[in-house]
Amino acid sequence: MDRHIKIIATLGPGTDSYEAVKELVESGAKIFRLNFSHGGREFFAKMVEIIRRLEEETELTLTVLQDLSGPKIRTCDVGLGTFEVNKGDEVMLGSSDKYKDDGAPFICLDIPEMFEGVKVGDPVALGDGVIRFRVVEIEEPQLIRLEATNAGICPPRKGITFPGMKTPLAPLTEKDKADLAIGMDLGVDVVAMSFVQKPEDICNLRAEMIQYGRRVPIIAKIERTAALECLDEILTEADGIMVARGDLGLELDLAELPAAQKRIIKACNRLGKPVIVATQMLLSMVNSPMATRAETTDVANAILDGADCVMLSEETAVGRYPGEAVKFMRKIAYEIEAYMVESGMVNISVDGVKEHPSTFLAHAAAMLAGKTDAKAIVCHSTSGATSRILSSCRPAQSIYALSSDSTVRHFTNLSLGVIPAKPLDVIDDHQERAEVFVRQSPAFDEGDIVIITAGQPIKGKSVTQTNVVKLYEKLKKVAS
Ligand code: PGA
Ligand code: MN
Repeated sequence: MDRHIKIIATLGPGTDSYEAVKELVESGAKIFRLNFSHGGREFFAKMVEIIRRLEEETELTLTVLQDLSGPKIRTCDVGLGTFEVNKGDEVMLGSSDKYKDDGAPFICLDIPEMFEGVKVGDPVALGDGVIRFRVVEIEEPQLIRLEATNAGICPPRKGITFPGMKTPLAPLTEKDKADLAIGMDLGVDVVAMSFVQKPEDICNLRAEMIQYGRRVPIIAKIERTAALECLDEILTEADGIMVARGDLGLELDLAELPAAQKRIIKACNRLGKPVIVATQMLLSMVNSPMATRAETTDVANAILDGADCVMLSEETAVGRYPGEAVKFMRKIAYEIEAYMVESGMVNISVDGVKEHPSTFLAHAAAMLAGKTDAKAIVCHSTSGATSRILSSCRPAQSIYALSSDSTVRHFTNLSLGVIPAKPLDVIDDHQERAEVFVRQSPAFDEGDIVIITAGQPIKGKSVTQTNVVKLYEKLKKVAS
């Protein structure tokens, strides 16, 4: 049993040196998130340089994931400072021109569109959900009276959400466009889009990318209820998905979050698209070398749910124990993945999987690998599609995915159990490329059985899809 969950580590002030990132790599992180909500070009450029250097030194595929901030809605500062509210207290929420200096608590929000469609009884969450309010009266356009449903403090410039409402703000802001330009210039491998609400949002980002001459895979962050309502359409358009539990947990009743996570993961598994579970996975490790029982179980359960990647945010970006957090995540994964194999949760077929020859071939390869006790599956996957389908079969073995395309390799790196590798392109024949890879790779010993999949050319067809599954044994090198 060899396949592994992918660990994503967010980089930040806690991990801004070569040594710190190296420790994350040695601890098992394969994907590095650059969070464009914090930090500027200089920091990101330095991080990309470090990752590329480590890629060369370790010969691993390390993926750079650019995370665009999107329209995170924040209150503004009208100089009132931080104030406290108790449960039942009334507070006014309005644009700055509605502010009256009468001593009444006031939260300022200078985005007029956000007031449209707000009704009495609607919930409002401030400061990442720390305080929740309910709308009690619409006093004027852009001035509403709220009642606190719990006690807490209200500092200025905090995130504010109207759970369940469709936001009129497009997820690709001017800042995101400028950040995308930086990302494209730095050569990021994957771009994540925040607050996606509909499939067109993904199309818009892709159209924006065209001017840079690149088609970088896009991860849609699911953190709005509107996105849940058209999840299948978003999934068709996006290359992968992130269950962004931080903001999604604000939008939903928190108790609904676990079921939402499972539904999203299942939908992604069906399509063979990589899915990331993110936020607060080992949060207490920001300050403590030990995670809680609940966090440990949460990571394991995300893997059981079918996640391809588990992500660390503050834990590695600003935490005191970044390396330990990654190591611990990897340890949880080893244990739970062994349990999954032991209890037969491998080579699964998910309901509703697209019935297509490529799916059957992938399932056949995965089954063959299981039955022959193969060391691994080696697939030649020019576009990466076959390696993703193979991964979605969830075989117990690792899947070596050969592609000459660096963008493909860096994206297949997000699929569970996939180890991207570069084939010898001097060889034309894809099946032979795979066999040569097995013969040359130190990962395989003489006598090892490997299942190979590749596309062999068919007369009269220019594009070949995977059409071969071969049981291959690595033989002794013949002395010449
Ligand atoms: P964020 O996204 O960290 O960029 O907010 C993840 C989330 O909302 O969970
Ligand atoms: Mn978010």
